[in-house]
Amino acid sequence: MLEALKEAVCEANKKLPGYGLVTFTWGNVSQIDRESGLFVIKPSGVEYDRLKPEDMVVMDLDGNQVEGKLRPSSDTLTHIELYKAFESVGGIVHTHSSYAASWAQAGRDIPCYGTTHADYFYGEIPCLRGLTKEEIESAYEKNTGLLIVKEFERMGKDPLAVPAVLCKNHGPFAWGKDAMEAVHNAVVLEEVAKMAYRSEIINPRIAPAPGPLQDKHYFRKHGKDAYYGQN
Ligand code: 13P
Repeated sequence: MLEALKEAVCEANKKLPGYGLVTFTWGNVSQIDRESGLFVIKPSGVEYDRLKPEDMVVMDLDGNQVEGKLRPSSDTLTHIELYKAFESVGGIVHTHSSYAASWAQAGRDIPCYGTTHADYFYGEIPCLRGLTKEEIESAYEKNTGLLIVKEFERMGKDPLAVPAVLCKNHGPFAWGKDAMEAVHNAVVLEEVAKMAYRSEIINPRIAPAPGPLQDKHYFRKHGKDAYYGQN
């Protein structure tokens, strides 16, 4: 079942260590097949170099394990809430990549200080409030997903225009049209987090990049008038 998707998700997971986004097994990638409503996700706690397509776990959006012998990622219920609410999203990645997780631990949004950020993320990358004791103790992973969804709605953010979020004291989730694009965005997020940190060290009084410059860079790559790259 969904053999091509299992291969794609396995390959996307295996990219994480090479991009320096994960230590040990600190991350997971999934991708959904919107037609069947099923998604494929990494099994929990399995080393990336041992990971095979047949180890991937097939889930439905009600949280039922449809196929796979191994237990799915512990973050599966977060992925489910994101797939349910963000219909444009086809792939999701969670890591503890060092710079992005540092901003998450510090509880700070990542301001847009330059065009590397603006090319991929429209405006700051938000760091959400921490979960309450009740939210942590009742249904932690589901509540993590629900909070992301609720906060994106409240802030009026389009998940494809801001394809990442920081969960306070935890780390980043990034997403995209598919698993590979989600991994791509997670790599950019980590670079942007690193640059923003260094920019604040070099100039503690730094301000975000001017709005027109942010707009120029974002919209020359995204939307109907984009002209970056080739047709
Ligand atoms: P899993 O191995 O269960 O996916 O967990 C990885 C992780 O990073 C937990 O936050």
